[in-house]
Amino acid sequence: MCTPKSAGGLNLINLQQWNKTAIAKTCWDLKHKQDKLWIRWIHAYYIKGQQFHEAATPQQACWMVRKVLEARAITEHIQHRPNLGKSLIKIVYLQLIGSQSRPPWKCLMFNNSARPKAIFTMWLQLQDRLLTTDRLQNWGIDVNIDCIFCQNQMETRDHLFKDCDYSTAIWRKLLLWSRNQNFTSTTWEEHAGQIVRKGKGKSVGAQIFRLIYAEFVYAVWLERNQRIFEKKSKNWESVAREIAFMCSVRASPKIAPVLQQFIFT
Ligand SMILES: [Zn+2]
Repeated sequence: MCTPKSAGGLNLINLQQWNKTAIAKTCWDLKHKQDKLWIRWIHAYYIKGQQFHEAATPQQACWMVRKVLEARAITEHIQHRPNLGKSLIKIVYLQLIGSQSRPPWKCLMFNNSARPKAIFTMWLQLQDRLLTTDRLQNWGIDVNIDCIFCQNQMETRDHLFKDCDYSTAIWRKLLLWSRNQNFTSTTWEEHAGQIVRKGKGKSVGAQIFRLIYAEFVYAVWLERNQRIFEKKSKNWESVAREIAFMCSVRASPKIAPVLQQFIFT
């Protein structure tokens, strides 16, 4: 969650690392901004003319000063550049969280006008982290593992969103409505590859596709939950119609004129 969006995360700040970074920034100031009064004071009382990185951390200093001086190990790797101060925290923070792999589906997360809860559900689904019954069973939880839609197969991420007749009918209807061609895929990797190809880029078509896919995933997951927990059910056509309506409502001004031309029959 705390990784950047470009690495498939939600761009939330890791507060623990951010705190370390803020301390490192103060440490960096201590070395490079010796014109400030409090810095001159620390140099006069604790550094006492020693090399900044070699001076031992004074044990008699207060907790805050010790923490700042202990952050020297982090700042050692930062090269001094003019005007670095403003962006220093960001540079150090990104170094601390390390380099991240970039999953191909990250493009679906950008510039997507679907509801945030739909995008979040899609984010979990793409990583196979939704609590489908196969995962619950692997954790030792006693649950009915049959797909709630067809009662015919084990409920897995792949079955629920790719293979199940119920969700496939919704997906085909949405593809038809949005003038996309049918997908043919046997494995989840092929399926995901096609979604990424369709949803990648800045084109209106790609933006519409990202919106539809996120709302589709959310609607299927919601319907699945309502059937399990509230014993309510809708037919696939109603769900597809609701997704199409929601996409029309949520569409950004750039894609709305195109989306409104689609006819749901
Ligand atoms: Zn099923």
